[in-house]
Amino acid sequence: MVTPSRINLLERLPLLKTILKSRAFQPVLMLITLFVFVLAILTGLFGTPAGSRNFNIIFVWIVWWALLIIVMVPFFGRLWCAICPIPAPGEWLQRRGIIQRRTGRLLTLNRRWPRRLKNMWLQNFGFLGVAMFSTIILTRPSVSAWVLFSFLLVGVMLSAVYKNRIFCRYVCPVGGFIGLYSMLSPVELRVEDQGICASHTTKDCITGNEHGYGCPWMVFPGNLTRNTYCGLCVECLKTCPKNNIVINLRPFGSDLMVAKERRLDEAYKAFIMLGCALLYSVVLLGPWGWLKNWANMDTLPHWAIYAAAFLAINLLVLPGLFWLVTVASRRLSGQAVPLRRLFVDYAYTLVPLGLSGWIAFSLGFVLVNGSYALGVVSDPFGWGWNLFGTAQAGWTPLWPTLTAFLQVGTLTAGLLFSVNTAYKIARQNSQDHRLAFLATLPVTGFLTLVTLGFLRLYLG
Ligand code: SF4
Ligand code: SF4
Repeated sequence: MVTPSRINLLERLPLLKTILKSRAFQPVLMLITLFVFVLAILTGLFGTPAGSRNFNIIFVWIVWWALLIIVMVPFFGRLWCAICPIPAPGEWLQRRGIIQRRTGRLLTLNRRWPRRLKNMWLQNFGFLGVAMFSTIILTRPSVSAWVLFSFLLVGVMLSAVYKNRIFCRYVCPVGGFIGLYSMLSPVELRVEDQGICASHTTKDCITGNEHGYGCPWMVFPGNLTRNTYCGLCVECLKTCPKNNIVINLRPFGSDLMVAKERRLDEAYKAFIMLGCALLYSVVLLGPWGWLKNWANMDTLPHWAIYAAAFLAINLLVLPGLFWLVTVASRRLSGQAVPLRRLFVDYAYTLVPLGLSGWIAFSLGFVLVNGSYALGVVSDPFGWGWNLFGTAQAGWTPLWPTLTAFLQVGTLTAGLLFSVNTAYKIARQNSQDHRLAFLATLPVTGFLTLVTLGFLRLYLG
């Protein structure tokens, strides 16, 4: 029983199902990404300090980032989490194996993750922490390498203490925003029939069986209504004896309409991501050289002022302005809904615009600097190697005249998607079209101003 607007991909593409059910498929991809990840750490530590000639900076912060934000997250949601190398060593140690399903308990101290940390707040603060140092991380290969190594180390340490993927679910700063933006993706993993799950007493997808492990993300597939916390590891596809797991194609942004799961920590993630996209554009693409110097820690006091402003804008200014927008929306429409709930509801309208802001920002970066990848792949450490004969490839910005058009198109699409989402959310709180329209007006004004801010930065 598939929802009418869904297409069951596993039914249409039986080969895909066979591949995904194979226990070897995912670990092989993870081994490849782990190899690249370790190479990024080694090149960062031992390679040239010139970022444009170092594999670490070019492949992590330009190639991988662009692939993630422009292709993987918008079209495939958490696909990256399914092949991410960071949790791999910890997970394989827990399982005492890489491919085959080993019987017995996971090798871990099996401590309980604190209840008050079962949310996105750690990921919100973790992302802000990395973002405050981003100008330094993006330009110094050795710093970038230590950041990557620390991710790997924390992943292993958490796996040793807690079972399953605690790092991915509650700690990883990247996983947090992938989860938020994966709500937009046109791909979802769900159960075909929730009734079958309700009556299936052994719940192998939670406990695991001889075909696979219980859900490493601590999710019950039978209750899945959004992509946010499903890491697409497809373990449940292997364990479900009722053949009840499906992967569907669906309309973009379907999860934004799931009202009962909206939460303040996720709302804040939406503010932080939008705020960081704006601030990155100001610092890295704007004409203010002094600001870039401050972000790059030319002096400690300068950086401290920059960091304080960065935090204040993300945690206070943007949410504060949006609170006023929510008050105006409630007054205009007369909706008898608690203000806090409206604030959280409307924060989800920032998701499409936030992602389009990141895509526009990343397009500028990858089209201008992506050509460095050709040289770096032949000489990853910058030591004068020429592995594939491309070491001398010069810097060639791709489609320089097209970039602005692509950015305007992306931001316009994001704005329209966000405004449409605002109206639909308003309709969830009001049956009356006119009142919903009035409620949408202040939110639309806010979204439009933010879009104009992005355009001003990109078009000069
Ligand atoms: S094992 Fe399959 S049928 Fe049983 S609860 Fe899990 S997803 Fe549902
Ligand atoms: S619900 Fe299934 S695919 Fe999603 S994380 Fe859990 S086991 Fe993996």
